[in-house]
Amino acid sequence: MASVLFWDIDGTLLTTERAGMLAWNDAVREVTGREFDLRTGIRTSGFTDYQIAVRTFEVLGLQPATGEIDRLVRRYEERLPASLPLRNGRVLDNVREILEALAGERPDVRSYLLTGNTPGGARAKLTHFGLVDLLSEGAFSVDTRPRADIARRALDLARRAGPVAEDQVVVIGDTPHDIECAAAIGARTLAVATGGYSLDELQRHRPWRLFASLPSPDEFIALIDTLAPAAAPAGQGA
Ligand SMILES: [Mg+2]
Repeated sequence: MASVLFWDIDGTLLTTERAGMLAWNDAVREVTGREFDLRTGIRTSGFTDYQIAVRTFEVLGLQPATGEIDRLVRRYEERLPASLPLRNGRVLDNVREILEALAGERPDVRSYLLTGNTPGGARAKLTHFGLVDLLSEGAFSVDTRPRADIARRALDLARRAGPVAEDQVVVIGDTPHDIECAAAIGARTLAVATGGYSLDELQRHRPWRLFASLPSPDEFIALIDTLAPAAAPAGQGA
């Protein structure tokens, strides 16, 4: 049985310092012919890319034609790799160290993405920041359905890959939406205030654990291990 970790991307693994918004604004201009500024238009953190696309059309007072939401998302994905180097984004503290420690030493702790990014958007970000070899599988925003739907697909994916210790499933995220989607699949949330929400705001949604930023790999792994039943002492057993 494995523990399963579901990782959010923006504000949890990394920050693009809003480089994604540049790609979004350009894609909106190309698809609708209208000027748009995602920085002032919508609160984006915690929302899926498809939900942001729907909201973008609403804010512009436009009714999207058939396929237009998909087209906006595709153009955003295509523009993203060129936008990411325009801002000083970075991998957040301890992320790389935790993922490397888990990848090397802990086959009994499996990590997946659980993200409101589209598959292409997630891949562009993880590739740009050098995390794609550590984490690439998971569930993404593929339609306008809510984040809880992405969470259910992520859990299905983890179960298909092997036995899951159902009481050792943890969503790691930076917004109340992450906490809500974890609750929707009966998972715990390890919340970090490294995105758009403060410690106080996150605490109101009662995550399992709450940190200002991700702890050291040792502390992180020790925390995950508190969920597993204590191993039999060495030398004991049948
Ligand atoms: Mg996030």
